[in-house]
Amino acid sequence: MHRSWVAGAATMLIAAAALAATAAGGPQVRGAAAVDTARQLAADQEPGTWMSSGRTYDEQRYSPLTGINRDNVGRLGLVWYGDVDTERGQESTPVVVDGVLYITTAWSMVKAYDAATGEKLWEYDPQVDRAVGQVACCDVVNRGVAAWKGKIYLGALDGRLIALDGRTGKVVWSVQTTDPTQPYTITQVPRMVKGMVVIGNAGAEYTCRGYVTAYEAETGKQAWRFYTVPDEPGKPTTPELEAARKTWNGPFWKFGGGATAWDSIVYDPRTNLVFFGTGNGLSWAPDIRSPGGGDNLFTASVIAVNADTGRYVWHHQLVPSDAWDYDVTNPLMIADLKIGGRVRHVLMQAPKIGFFYVWDARTGKLISAEQFAPANWATKIDLKTGRPVENPAARYTVDKASLVYPAPLGAHNWHPMSYSPRTGLVYLPVTENNTGFQQLAADKFKVNARTYNTGTISGSAEITKLYEAPGAPPRGNVKSYLQAWDPAAGKEVWRVDQKDFGPAGTMVTASDIVFNGNWSGEFAAYDARTGAKLWSAPTQANVVAAPSTYTIAGQQYVAVLVGARGLPKGQVRTNPLSANNSRLLVYKLGGTASLPTAATSGPSTITTKLDPPLFTGTNEQVIDGQGSYARVCAGCHGPNAAADKSIPDVRYSTTLRSISDWNTVVMDGSRASRGMAAFRGIIGREESENIFHYVISQANKDKAAEQAKAARP
Ligand code: CA
Repeated sequence: MHRSWVAGAATMLIAAAALAATAAGGPQVRGAAAVDTARQLAADQEPGTWMSSGRTYDEQRYSPLTGINRDNVGRLGLVWYGDVDTERGQESTPVVVDGVLYITTAWSMVKAYDAATGEKLWEYDPQVDRAVGQVACCDVVNRGVAAWKGKIYLGALDGRLIALDGRTGKVVWSVQTTDPTQPYTITQVPRMVKGMVVIGNAGAEYTCRGYVTAYEAETGKQAWRFYTVPDEPGKPTTPELEAARKTWNGPFWKFGGGATAWDSIVYDPRTNLVFFGTGNGLSWAPDIRSPGGGDNLFTASVIAVNADTGRYVWHHQLVPSDAWDYDVTNPLMIADLKIGGRVRHVLMQAPKIGFFYVWDARTGKLISAEQFAPANWATKIDLKTGRPVENPAARYTVDKASLVYPAPLGAHNWHPMSYSPRTGLVYLPVTENNTGFQQLAADKFKVNARTYNTGTISGSAEITKLYEAPGAPPRGNVKSYLQAWDPAAGKEVWRVDQKDFGPAGTMVTASDIVFNGNWSGEFAAYDARTGAKLWSAPTQANVVAAPSTYTIAGQQYVAVLVGARGLPKGQVRTNPLSANNSRLLVYKLGGTASLPTAATSGPSTITTKLDPPLFTGTNEQVIDGQGSYARVCAGCHGPNAAADKSIPDVRYSTTLRSISDWNTVVMDGSRASRGMAAFRGIIGREESENIFHYVISQANKDKAAEQAKAARP
């Protein structure tokens, strides 16, 4: 099989063929994964490949392809699909190189397909211990692979970095990047930087200390490591961490420190810098984390390090003394923007906090930080100091609650955004949401490395009062939209409201089409200049991942991975392997394949009727159980005992009929192989029973509300 891009113009063909011969060091074969620095730098000369997750080093997720354009996009049709064998969230962007399409799925599994036909070439399962799911805050997801000189690189949930043979999927090497006794996880895409593979990790809420490491791509030998927060006094340190220690109080290192760099890592060849963003500290409540105050560097910061050495170059802490889980790990993107009459080489980010940041990439000087979504925690960002002008009402204590937006989900989270140099616009999924915060009483805060340690409560009488006050927003998730943002002017140009709440990644092409899925079971194309909807196709599943596009034999394809957090309204199970219809969907002009319409065997994850047993607990059990549920269970099973994910909604669980059935699952781990590991040793029997009663109470309340709603005329 020939490489896709040789169908280009003759001159391009010669240049690209010469380049590829250098890259691969020999004849082209399917699955060579023959990416190197020269080939990646020249990505625009072979527009039909998508050789890294963000397509190019600048991670603009912009495709120069124009085969699918605004005139013919209406003829786009499904050409093949691949059923994915897990119902947990699917977040990876397909990487397409040398005729092979690579995805990762939940539980860090890799699948390789013939990009034209959909024939599955190989698959790899790292056999992650399902107990690791306990400390994966936000589902056991993975955002994709990196390809380099014949190998495919994967960050596994359990902290391994694994190099696979691109042709066979066999393990070439594997290194444990984390202390396996600590609750670290990895969900991010490894990035290739000058023959090294760079990876961070997650686990800030579970007592982990953040760092980013570069490994030699050929051998897995460590090249450099950058820690994002200081260690305890007396341990080896660096000048920047020595300075950072002065911004902390108390024995913060006992809680790990956090500031994990869990998503974005970008390499900029122009400045020879590697950029990444860091998350929150432990706990979210700053008074517990660093009693007496302090900015707590380098939490909630964007950091630039030297690509060769990993040494500090610049940083910007977006949220000093963060109190709201305002990670700034969100996608980073490099571009050349015309600002104030001159072209600036910039780094851009749309973080959780609702302000869109543009920096000079080389110096870190803040150019602009305009508001792109409703935010009440700060009124603006001071461009001179780079610090937010905070709204004091957003800060909370043990005695004072606050109602804050955006909520920890953020105005924009990990979901990839894209940028078109043709329109000058960034296309990003925006979510409006809010939450209540109140600090946990000091004697109630006990760090447990296997559970969420936020030091906050999100439900209290004070918080309820704030939501009942005039002008308060509707509680929780409000709405979602696809936004076109002008980063040079710092303003929204258009938006498309989504029918159902939920963000999904974007991609834009040189034919001025933006591709974006949604949570109504749809994959759609929009006019990049106006937002007009041009085309859509049913996905039978929620979409959270970003698409990619490529050519094989001159034909343009668009690929997107779907499936996450249950089924959209009105959808039924049609995938025999996945209750939420997780699939890889691939489209081209004139494609005539269709998704199965008949329900296949196996139960749907959606049960429609709430039928809990009668509540027999006490009010004290419910109150304690609510706190424990929020700390131990909500990360996976959803807030207020209502799952919005593709894992069971506990209110419907048959184990509510008997505490011994409940404990067989919760304490003894009878469903460990499916991801519900034993909580024995993490919580006690009494705590388990309190959660049991809380869930029954909550289920009965929700049932009553459903009945009241049904009875209304
Ligand atoms: Ca976080």
